[in-house]
Amino acid sequence: MKKTYFLLLLVAAIAATAYGWRNQEMEIRFTGLNVPQLEQLRALNLNGEVSPLGDAAMYVIPDELKQVDASGLIYQITIPDLNAHYSGFWQQSKVVPNILVPAGYSTYEQIIAAIDSLVRVFPNICQKIVVGKSMQNRDICVLKISNNVSVHENEAEIVYDAGIHGDEVGGPENLIKFAREICANYSSNPDIKKSVDSREIYLYMMINPDGRVSMSRYNANNVDCNRDYGYMWGAQGGSTAPCSQQEIRVARNFFLSIQPSVQITYHSGQEYVLYPWGFTGNTPPDRTHHAYLANLYATNSTYTTLPVYSSYATYQTFGETIDYTYGCMGTTILTEEISINKQPSDVQGYYDKNVPAMKILIEYAGYGVQGIVNNAATAQPVTAILSVNQGFPFYSDPVVGDYHKFLTAGTYSIRVMANGYTAKTVASVAILDKQTTAVNITLDRDPAAKYAWGYRVVSVQTGGTGNTFSVLGQQDNLYYTLSGANGLVADMQYPIENISGKEITVFISGSTSTYTCYAGQAIDGPWLSLGTSARTDSFDLAAGALSSARYIRIQGANINLDAISGFKSYLTPVLSSPLTGKAGAGIAVFRTNAGYAIRLNGRVQGQITIVTAQGRCCLHACIDNGVYLWRPPGRGMFIIQAASGGRAAIQQCIVAE
Ligand SMILES: [Zn+2]
Repeated sequence: MKKTYFLLLLVAAIAATAYGWRNQEMEIRFTGLNVPQLEQLRALNLNGEVSPLGDAAMYVIPDELKQVDASGLIYQITIPDLNAHYSGFWQQSKVVPNILVPAGYSTYEQIIAAIDSLVRVFPNICQKIVVGKSMQNRDICVLKISNNVSVHENEAEIVYDAGIHGDEVGGPENLIKFAREICANYSSNPDIKKSVDSREIYLYMMINPDGRVSMSRYNANNVDCNRDYGYMWGAQGGSTAPCSQQEIRVARNFFLSIQPSVQITYHSGQEYVLYPWGFTGNTPPDRTHHAYLANLYATNSTYTTLPVYSSYATYQTFGETIDYTYGCMGTTILTEEISINKQPSDVQGYYDKNVPAMKILIEYAGYGVQGIVNNAATAQPVTAILSVNQGFPFYSDPVVGDYHKFLTAGTYSIRVMANGYTAKTVASVAILDKQTTAVNITLDRDPAAKYAWGYRVVSVQTGGTGNTFSVLGQQDNLYYTLSGANGLVADMQYPIENISGKEITVFISGSTSTYTCYAGQAIDGPWLSLGTSARTDSFDLAAGALSSARYIRIQGANINLDAISGFKSYLTPVLSSPLTGKAGAGIAVFRTNAGYAIRLNGRVQGQITIVTAQGRCCLHACIDNGVYLWRPPGRGMFIIQAASGGRAAIQQCIVAE
């Protein structure tokens, strides 16, 4: 009796110190699986890493282990209790001879401190961006390395991210080592200087910092964050909805804000490079470019062998990073699995294997085509949707208007469309190896354009057929066939304002199933139903009691979704230039709708303020370096003033859209 009581106490104590894995979760390994066996393993829908050569490491709780037993697949339990196994990882001293504590690994705090130190020592090329907070309230940080680091320039954006699986600690170590090497050699190494000066490098050290602290694959919700992204989301890894986790919303919002041209997402547990897709074995239209960079990475690394596969070839996954940034932003993205062992003792050795490839990918990220999309009449940047040879869409930057796309050598056709403008195709763009072809594009305003059309797919449930980008832009009888309870969410680019009548029109191609049209003001909802239909139909935002909505979600089975439009109410202000004024005096007055950005091109001595007609301050900013993009908090009249003690001169104040 006494003994049982003692055991119960012991179990309670272990449970109380439970780490970041699921209760009683264990690591099991498979070797030498043949193709039918790999398919069998896939069907079990477990978390883990699989090599197409037939080895796998999976993470299972006792209920899942029963399913593995029932399948007849042979495995070995390699870590019987992951929580216990990792419980002292960060606490153990280096002098204790224990392979679990490789010298040279950094805690979460040490990585953040290293970022801070780099920013202190190299302020001209380093900027720390706190992109959000984890569930357990840890700062999530990105280190940006570029010349003129505080401004976004017409330069290709490269993202290296790591640590989405917290126990895969080598990725973040590689990134912080890489940051140190780049910074320390910036002034002495001409190649590094050239890369830093002509690219914007974003090192997203730890997507899931809570998982690093708890040494778990999961975040503090026990969710596998690399199954939570919203593109081809499929309810794996404990994810309850597309982008349901705070860490993934933070990462997604950051990626959407910079629209990476090239990205690598770092993992460990295998040694290979993967390109999209993860959700399907179908070949995506940009495969040549993805495969080129994947092979470039492999051949420039110093692994004895670093095979290249499509992610699907290793294991079908839904809601992965690579599918999201490629599917929603057109990013050329790879997964790099750096080491078979998740915590190898030879940290430096694995860094050395990767660093030549990391450097060359930064160089190549700026090759291909780049340019600026402008309004033909005003020369102002236009936020456009671009695609090359009918590939996945990528986007010009809303502030600078720049776009960047890695392409292998060849001749291409670039399609450019933008809400409110006449679409254009630039044919016969010649791309040479290791060079950048500049193609600046001017678009003409379409004075007859009354509608905003779907601008970006921001989430979609897996199970449909076709290319999701078919739903973007105007109605054209090209469609994507929807499936799943979460449907597809399109960003309309602008908030569609509720006016009289029906503002939203959903264009359906030939299908007769019933769908529901939802609208939301934010990317993750809440979603208000505007009604149902089985054909092309219009909906009123008033049906959802919404004053405006920027996101439209269409949900239904076997729905051939062609396009979505929203009536775009127009704006009043375009101010003549230049505008000058003394402190306190109104130097520009304009009216605008909510959600439309106002671009101020200016030169100020001192600062400007923007106040409402009632005198309430909305913005207090310095715009002395050219461009400031401001989003009014709502519909109304606003007055720009020079701040007290200053005198402002603004060349232009226009609606930037
Ligand atoms: Zn991983």
